[in-house]
Amino acid sequence: MYTVETEKTRGLRQMLGRAGKVVITSHVHPDGDAVGSTTAMLSYLTEGLGIEAFAVFPDEVPDYLRFIVPERLSGRIGWGVKAAASALRGAGLLIALDFNDLSRTEALKDRFLAFRGPRVLIDHHVGPDTVSFDLVFSETEISSTCELLYWILTAASGSESLPAACKDALLTGMTTDTNNFANSVFPSTLEMASGLLRAGVDRDRILENLYQKGRENRLRLLGHLLSERLIVTPEGAAITIFREEDRKRFGILEGETEGFVNMPLSIGKVRISGFFKEEDGILRVSLRSKKPLSARELAVRAFHGGGHEQAAGGKILVPEDIPTMDAAGDYLIGIFKEYLQ
Ligand code: 5GP
Ligand code: MN
Repeated sequence: MYTVETEKTRGLRQMLGRAGKVVITSHVHPDGDAVGSTTAMLSYLTEGLGIEAFAVFPDEVPDYLRFIVPERLSGRIGWGVKAAASALRGAGLLIALDFNDLSRTEALKDRFLAFRGPRVLIDHHVGPDTVSFDLVFSETEISSTCELLYWILTAASGSESLPAACKDALLTGMTTDTNNFANSVFPSTLEMASGLLRAGVDRDRILENLYQKGRENRLRLLGHLLSERLIVTPEGAAITIFREEDRKRFGILEGETEGFVNMPLSIGKVRISGFFKEEDGILRVSLRSKKPLSARELAVRAFHGGGHEQAAGGKILVPEDIPTMDAAGDYLIGIFKEYLQ
């Protein structure tokens, strides 16, 4: 069991009691942990406590994660600056989930900074921004924000009392952030899973939604990338560049390459895997490393990013970092060679 400081949970309860209306947010390109923790909080507040609440993301929830949000709550989730402005009007509390710095909300950042009410941060990344937030729940020795949120929400009353959608969303976010119990699993993570299963969560349904509802073209693309695009360097880096032409050829949708970055780690000599996705004129970077190598350090050093020790991300800017997209391969081979020597 993970123990949350009683003083902090009491502080959160007091803030919720005074809030009136609550706005919940998470990071750009929301992943399972972001959508899971946001939906769990939304369900807990509206269905559990009867508090008015809205969630806003910097951009849209991808199709493959929509199943996390039940129909009855979907009207309470929006995205973009307009939705944020309207949700913040008359709100008395902001709760931010699954990021350590407001810059991860990109275009929404200024709205949140201008918000006069109290701000709460619940997150599992290193280096939380303690200046912009009034109350910070931060723990890095934990699987996910969903797990941290589980321990916060059950500190007083146990998991039985959580609304069904809240429990489902928490198990879903933890499952995606651990890559289905492969990484960042702590004793407390298994206790959380056990508590949720005992409280009636249907894990089979979650696994089916996450891993058995993909389109054929997603798997065809994976085959294409592994046979035509994957570069394995002598130093033990795996580099996969996913170009716009590949996206067009296979008709790939937002979020469909999720998890691809993990595949090359099955090669014995690979110590770090990088997946580089062409998107809106930049390359979005996903990194995964084997212990003790740090993916985060490379993300900070070379890719304007950050994250966790073994799972990190960032971006490559064109033309600031590389003159054209075509230069990405050689550039990356150089970066990894230097990092791994
Ligand atoms: P993913 O590869 O799944 O997109 O991201 C893995 C982790 O890297 C995320 O959990 C997040 O912590 C971090 N991350 C991804 N992109 C960025 C970024 O642009 N900036 C920072 N600071 N962290 C990122
Ligand atoms: Mn997370």
